[in-house]
Amino acid sequence: LVRISNVWKKRGANVVLKGVNLVAHQGTVVCLLGPSGAGKSTLLRCINAIELPDRGMIHLDGVAIGCRQEGDKFIRLSEREVSRQRADIGMVFQNFNLFPHMSVLENIIDAPMRVRGEGRAAATQRAHDLLGRVGLADKAKAYPRHLSGGQQQRIAIARALAMQPKLMLFDEPTSALDPHLTDEVLDVMKGLAGAGMTMIVVTHEVAFARQVGDVAAIMADGVIIEAGPARDVLTRPQDPRTRKFLAKSL
Ligand code: ATP
Ligand code: MG
Repeated sequence: LVRISNVWKKRGANVVLKGVNLVAHQGTVVCLLGPSGAGKSTLLRCINAIELPDRGMIHLDGVAIGCRQEGDKFIRLSEREVSRQRADIGMVFQNFNLFPHMSVLENIIDAPMRVRGEGRAAATQRAHDLLGRVGLADKAKAYPRHLSGGQQQRIAIARALAMQPKLMLFDEPTSALDPHLTDEVLDVMKGLAGAGMTMIVVTHEVAFARQVGDVAAIMADGVIIEAGPARDVLTRPQDPRTRKFLAKSL
C-alpha cells in the first residue's frame, strides 16, 4: 500500500506539487492522467525517492520513503538507505533506459546481483522466466540496439520485475512508441495488473486506464483535481477541467 500525504515540491521558483494526496491499495492499478506540466513525473520521482518532497510524506507499507521523522523534523536517509528502499519499487520510463553495452540478460540480472546480492544462477533463471512472461524468451543474448522500441520497453519491464518489487511505477511507458508497438507493452502491463501487482501508471492511454485502472486520478497544476473509480472518472468526469482534458485525448 502506498500513501501520499500532502506532498509539496518546488522546482526553482515553480511550485510543482501543491498538496497531493493519493492512496494506491495493495494489488490495485492507479492511473494518473493530466496535461503536460501537471507534475505527474515529479510525483513519481518523489515516490521513488529520486526527489524528496519539501513537505508531506510518502509511505510504502507504512514505511516513510526517503526520510525518517525525529520529533517534528524529517531527516533525509543516507543514499545507501534510500537505495535499499528503492529496490522495492520498480520504475519504467518513457525512454526504456536500458544499458546499451549490456545484453538483455545482463540488463536483467545486473541489479538483482549487485543490489540484492543474488547468485548468477538464480538471477539468470528468473530472468529467463521473466523474458517468457514478456514474450521475449528468445532475446536473452540480444543487445538493446537490435530490438524494437516495444521490445526494449518489455525488457525494461522485465528488468524492473527482476528486483521483485512491491510496487511498479510507469511514466508514460508507451508514449515514445508507434501505435502498433504500444499494444504489446500495454498487454504486458495488463498481465501484470491481472497478476496482482500494485501499479501507479502515468499514461495518456485513456482506453487502457478505463479498462485496467482501478482508480483514475486526474492531475492539473500540481494538485489532483479528481480521483475515483477509473470507469466513473473517465466516462463521467465531474470536473470541467477533466472533461476538457479527456476531450482532447480522445
Ligand atoms: P508531462 O506530461 O509533460 O511529462 P508532467 O505532468 O510529468 O508533464 P513534470 O515533469 O512533473 O510534469 O513537471 C511539472 C512542472 O515542473 C512543469 O511546470 C515543469 O516546467 C517544471 N519542471 C520540470 N523540471 C524542472 C526543472 N528541472 N527545473 C524547474 N522546473 C522544472
Ligand atoms: Mg512527465
